[in-house]
Amino acid sequence: MPAADSSTPPLRPATIAVTAGRPPHTPDEPLNVPVTMASTYVAGGDLEYGRYGNPTWTAFEDALGALEGGRALAFSSGMAAITTLLDLVGHGGSVVAPRHSYSGTIAALADFEARGRLRAQLVDITDTEAVVKAMEDDEDCALLWLESPTNPALELADVATLAEHAHRLGIQVVVDNTFATPLLQQPLALGADVVVHSATKFIAGHSDVLMGALVVGTDAAEVHAALKGRRDLAGSVPGTFEAWLSLRGLRTLHVRLERASANAAELAARLREHPAVDDVRYPGFGAITSLVVHGGADAADRLVRSTALWVHATSLGGVESTFERRRRWKLEAATIPEGLVRLSVGIEDVEDLWEDLRGALDRLV
Ligand code: PLP
Repeated sequence: MPAADSSTPPLRPATIAVTAGRPPHTPDEPLNVPVTMASTYVAGGDLEYGRYGNPTWTAFEDALGALEGGRALAFSSGMAAITTLLDLVGHGGSVVAPRHSYSGTIAALADFEARGRLRAQLVDITDTEAVVKAMEDDEDCALLWLESPTNPALELADVATLAEHAHRLGIQVVVDNTFATPLLQQPLALGADVVVHSATKFIAGHSDVLMGALVVGTDAAEVHAALKGRRDLAGSVPGTFEAWLSLRGLRTLHVRLERASANAAELAARLREHPAVDDVRYPGFGAITSLVVHGGADAADRLVRSTALWVHATSLGGVESTFERRRRWKLEAATIPEGLVRLSVGIEDVEDLWEDLRGALDRLV
C-alpha cells in the first residue's frame, strides 16, 4: 500500500481489506505477497528462522491488524491462539467466561483447570450485572473472556460496559470476534485488550484452511512480545500457504459478508414463520443464525439429513451454506437445546437456500 501522509483521509474498511499488507508499488514486482517457503533465512536480519517469522504471515497480520485497529499475530488455528492466551494467565488466576462459549474454548478452560493452572467461572454473558459481580467477587480474576455473539446460542455481550468494569478491577479483556469479524465489531475500540479469531471461518472464508490470530492494541508492545514469545516457543505457527489463503480470503470478506448477512437476515425472518420451528436466534447481523426445531434431537437429525444444498458439516463461515445439530458433540453445553441447528449461511441465491430448507422443514410437520 502506498505510504499515507497526514493529509490522507483514513481508509474505509472495504478498502483496507483489499489494500492492507500489500508490497509497495514497484515496477515488475507482483501485486500480491508471494508464498515464501522458508525454514531459515540468511543470518543477520530480523527473521533468522522459519518459526520466528515469515513475510507471508506478516502480510496477513498487517491486513488483519489494520482492520481490527491493532497488531495481529497469526497462529496455526483458532485454538492455538486461544490456548496461547490462556497460557499467559498466571498460576491460580481465574477466568470469567461465557457458559455458551465455543465448545473448544470451554474444553480448553476445563483442561487448564483440571491441571490446576487456573479456575474458570462460566457466566451468562447477556447479564451484564451478573458478569460484573462475578469479577468483583473473585479476587483472583485475571481475565474476562468474551465471545459475542456466542457460538451457537448467538447471545450478545455489552463489551464496552464490561471492559470498563474489568479495567476498574485490573482485569484484562479478551473478545473472540470470530462471528462478528472486524467489519461488524471492533473490540479494541470497545475497550478489549486482545481480540481472538478463528481465521478458519469468515476470514479465510472457503472451508479450506485452518488458521487463527490474536490482535492487540498498537501500543501494547509488551503483550504482543509475550504472545509472540509463546508462539515462538510452542511453534504454533501457521503454514505459509494457509497464511496466503487466509489473506486471499480476507480480500473479499466485506463482499462475502454483505451477501451472507443479507441471506441470513432473510432466512431468519422466514424461519420464524415456519410451523416446524420453535425458536430462531439471529442477533440482527452476521451470517450465522440458529433455529430450534420442534421435536428435539430426532427432528433436527432428520432435518440435517434431508437437504440437497445445505451440507451437514461442522465449522462455519464459508461461501457455501452448511448447518449442524450442535448437541451431536458431547462437548457442547447441556443448556444448548437438543434440537438446535446452527446455520452458517453462504452466498448462494437466497431463494434456492430457502426452497431447500423449507422443503426439509415441511417434511417434519
Ligand atoms: N472460536 C470460535 C467462536 C469458533 O467457532 C471456533 C471454531 O469453531 C474457534 C474459536 C476455534 O477455531 P479453530 O477451529 O480454527 O481452532
